[in-house]
Amino acid sequence: MLQDHFGREFHYLRLSITDVCNFRCTYCLPEGYRGEAGKSFLTLDEIRRVATAFAATGTTKVRITGGEPSLRRDLPDIIAAVKRTPGIRQVAITTNGYKLPQHIDAWAAAGLDALNVSIDSLDPAQFHAITGHQRLREVLDGLDRGIALGIGRVKVNTVLMRDCNDRELDRFLAWILDKPVTLRFIEVMQTGDNGEFYRRRHLSGEGIKRTLIERGWTPTPRATDAGPAQEFQHADYRGRIGLIMPYSKDFCATCNRLRISAIGQLYLCLFSEQGLDLRHLLQRDDQQAELITFLRNRLASKKIGHSLHDGDSGGTRHLAMIGG
Ligand code: SAM
Repeated sequence: MLQDHFGREFHYLRLSITDVCNFRCTYCLPEGYRGEAGKSFLTLDEIRRVATAFAATGTTKVRITGGEPSLRRDLPDIIAAVKRTPGIRQVAITTNGYKLPQHIDAWAAAGLDALNVSIDSLDPAQFHAITGHQRLREVLDGLDRGIALGIGRVKVNTVLMRDCNDRELDRFLAWILDKPVTLRFIEVMQTGDNGEFYRRRHLSGEGIKRTLIERGWTPTPRATDAGPAQEFQHADYRGRIGLIMPYSKDFCATCNRLRISAIGQLYLCLFSEQGLDLRHLLQRDDQQAELITFLRNRLASKKIGHSLHDGDSGGTRHLAMIGG
């Protein structure tokens, strides 16, 4: 079991497989991806070794993320390799849904258990303004295909933005009336690159929480490998609502997640000052014991919480860099 000094256990790994992204979301990469040349992302074998070591220390759930993970051609092989790892019960992905209708069948066949699609607006023009892409229809079709294929958990990530999609609450609620998805509003987090955007657009999720409770929504109990959202359900709705409020008190107290970046660095927090390089321990299968010792030792330096309240987002310039 991986446990830190504060008694938190880590059952959930967020594994980035590329930092390249093709969207230009206003809060993340508004100018588009500008990567450094010559970077090489984790290979399939390296990914398999990461998954094996984490599973051996109690990880049961792996989320594949990025950048945009679907930009990697070997994604179905990656899903299958993580899924085959003894001890891993759930393989999830977070994607912007780019070409989702073309991809989702192969991902499901490879063993994908859970699908998170980022959809910041249900208004095609607003979606375009936020992401730089006219693809809302396609993303929604891909999501429906994921549901039809029987992928057990389908979630939507919606970054909540003041004077923008905060006006769409009723539209989102109407949309999940008959849709078995959990729609999670994520408060915009401040990163090294988006300070000005954050100051203009950040909005607490508390207002939505109050509205939901007034309208009869009730909190859903939390599982040990659950993500960071507080979830709410309502008897009239097939869908659920989640709220991810990183600025709320005690957000870090339930942290159960560790992250590996696409170049093989361990991040103890999304807002760490820097990653801890472990790629040299991913080169051979016989390095597993050493890798596990590295993970246990490094966990000792995990802090009790992030310092976002002080405007300190560590070394994180944007979330695509680490895998948000
Ligand atoms: N490209 C994939 C996607 O769009 O889902 C995966 C990577 S993206 C960094 C993961 C999630 O982080 C997305 O839902 C995105 O909207 C969210 N995100 C990115 N920057 C954020 C920020 N500054 N604050 C809150 N959420 C953010």
